[in-house]
Amino acid sequence: MGDDPASRVYVNNKKKACEELGIYSEEYALSEDTSEEELLKLIHTLNEKRDINGILVQLPVPKHINEETVINAISPKKDVDAFHPVNVGKIMVGNFDFVPCTPAGVMELIKESGIDVRGKECVVVGRSNIVGKPQAMLLLHQNGTVTICHSKTKNLKEKTKQADILVAAVGIPNFITGDMIKEGAVVIDVGINRMADKKLVGDVEFESAEKVASAITPVPGGVGPMTIAMLMKNTVKAAILQHELN
Ligand code: NAD
Repeated sequence: MGDDPASRVYVNNKKKACEELGIYSEEYALSEDTSEEELLKLIHTLNEKRDINGILVQLPVPKHINEETVINAISPKKDVDAFHPVNVGKIMVGNFDFVPCTPAGVMELIKESGIDVRGKECVVVGRSNIVGKPQAMLLLHQNGTVTICHSKTKNLKEKTKQADILVAAVGIPNFITGDMIKEGAVVIDVGINRMADKKLVGDVEFESAEKVASAITPVPGGVGPMTIAMLMKNTVKAAILQHELN
């Protein structure tokens, strides 16, 4: 909804990924002043549409729209972002169909790099519903010892210095510096921050961090593309699950 430039980029990338994979997609670019009622009506229509297996509402929505109401309106079976409370609860329990795309992408990067999470000190900086909280749960399910840090955390550096695996999801450019990282740690940078010169930078100061980290993700080109890949994976899974139900 509306014309948020970052949202436009994300939606275009998602459409492109669908095209590349042969997944049929529809875009509803609603104007900024569309009412909540109209948006909910569209979601209900898509919930019932048999040729649509996954629905996502690109966030943020304009201020007059209640984000929670919108998320709750999406059928949990088609909720490929895994933001619906039913899917959030399933993630907590550890028996889930869909995993939120960004944390899932982080886990995939860790797995593909041959890093074993079991027993490791995992520190997640950020506690949002979209990234930080589900990230912590996924690391816990892999038997990591997880600490969640946030804006009210005291002595942050003391905590991050303990991390064998450090995930930064703060939204502040270059927030985590090399001196906050333990020698040999795995550093995953979720942040995407657009600077005044249009350059994208992460939440980790790459230059100082790469000197101490044993592995580190770049921005752009690290977690971002993985998020889209995981969205595609969730969509295929949704299609399979719905096909089995029918
Ligand atoms: P958010 O603003 O919802 O949450 C930020 C979190 O950082 C909060 O929980 C807050 O407690 C914490 N925080 C803020 N200041 C802090 C401080 N001084 N010390 C410690 N913690 C602090 O953001 P979000 O939606 O979780 O996104 C975080 C970042 O990840 C943003 O840069 C966003 O653009 C990016 N992001 C990337 C992807 C991707 O695909 N790679 C997906 C989602 C978000």
